[in-house]
Amino acid sequence: MQQYGYKIVDHIVEHFENQNTKTPVTHASRKEMDALLAEQIPHLPSDANEVLDFVMEQIIPHSNIVSHPKSFSFVPGPSNYISAMADTIATGFNIFSGGWAASPAAAELEIVTMNWLLEIFGFPEKDGGGIFTSGGSMANLTALVTARRIKCGDDFSKATIYLSDQAHSSNIKAIKVIGFKKEQIRIIPTDLEFKISLNKLKNIIARDRLEGLQPFCIIASAGTTNTGTVDPLDEIATICAQENLWFHIDGAYGGAAILSNSGKKLLKGIERADSLTVDPHKWFYQPYEMGCLLVKNHNWLSSTFTEKPEYLRDIEGNESEINFYDHGIQLTRRFRALKFYMSLKTFGLESFKSAIAYNIDLTEQTESILRKSSLWEIVSPATLAIINFRYNPIGENLSEKELDQINQNISQKIIASQEALLVTTVLQNQVVLRMCLINPRTTIKHIQDTLQKCEEYGQLELQKTEKTSSI
Ligand SMILES: *Cc1c(COP(=O)(O)O)cnc(C)c1O
Repeated sequence: MQQYGYKIVDHIVEHFENQNTKTPVTHASRKEMDALLAEQIPHLPSDANEVLDFVMEQIIPHSNIVSHPKSFSFVPGPSNYISAMADTIATGFNIFSGGWAASPAAAELEIVTMNWLLEIFGFPEKDGGGIFTSGGSMANLTALVTARRIKCGDDFSKATIYLSDQAHSSNIKAIKVIGFKKEQIRIIPTDLEFKISLNKLKNIIARDRLEGLQPFCIIASAGTTNTGTVDPLDEIATICAQENLWFHIDGAYGGAAILSNSGKKLLKGIERADSLTVDPHKWFYQPYEMGCLLVKNHNWLSSTFTEKPEYLRDIEGNESEINFYDHGIQLTRRFRALKFYMSLKTFGLESFKSAIAYNIDLTEQTESILRKSSLWEIVSPATLAIINFRYNPIGENLSEKELDQINQNISQKIIASQEALLVTTVLQNQVVLRMCLINPRTTIKHIQDTLQKCEEYGQLELQKTEKTSSI
């Protein structure tokens, strides 16, 4: 066991030390993967070391390195070594984090770390509560189940819910999972800055009330995944208070920015939410999986999720001894609080603060590099740590269609080269390149190198366009 374990630790350390020198992107078709990995059920044992060697040589390399400094797309997962080891402990000891009696320490640590998060986000420390989940999707689902129970009780046939066209898809998924019909969902358009339009929101709520419907919840984004945009949280909180609506904020991506001065200003009003999703496996640098839901009043969770089956009666404990299986969907849960606890203790909150400030500053530096160049157009400026831009050289007078094609091809080429992971998104019908710079390992040099490669590809694309138009 020791030799086997040491070997694995060596591999993980090698990964952390050398990931910068590897390529962030892999490609493999189903056919290639089948050829490499498909096999019959192994009825007989094999040598443990041979299995491990095969995994390290043939399986692990065929995944993108989401913690690579040139992994710019989606929301990267920078992770950290301390938390990776903490997860190893949690799994090694297989600690059951469902009920107090099974592990008083795991439950206590979830309370302790949740209290830290309540303080960070300005939630009430006495009445507030929360739960760690597998990720943001599950946190949003847990929030909406709670909102529906508290605001609608058993009958939600007339209930309506409001979110912007930039809200994360997991919210719509959650709304579907909890049994709402399409007619009960209101997608509110966003303005030119990708913020939810308050006038449209108010008008639609008023219209729904006139029609005898029951508006019950607004979902705001604190950092949209596309552009990092924060909805006007304070104003939405006021609407929710006036209209007696549940206020859910999806801060899965952007919530962590509260640890920086500029983020704190942008996120003003976040403390007024009834429920808030944050995703520690994004910008709190935790390895997968770890999401988090915070609520103003912990009783909302227990009154939504508590069931009392006879086979759990012996481990119920008393009121103050929280059984997290009563605060959410999962019964058997892994010990997620441990990695958050160990990494925060080891590095200190100050290190998280400076890493987040670094990420925001890096994105602003990237914006100023792009602005100085006549080759690039900023489509959505640096917001939290996201920037959207496109190759659009001044004086070329390219059509929208040509620009879309060129930028799509730049992305395809950079990915095919395995140089960087840089995919596109679509904003206001334009294909744009999107960078999410939450990795503290990323330097301005990594970005400059990538932009230079993109410019070379852009130049080639331009020549192609000129050739076709002169034919
Ligand atoms: C990533 C993300 C989610 C989903 O979180 P998962 O951890 O991937 O389940 C939800 N909302 C926003 C804004 C996100 O960026």
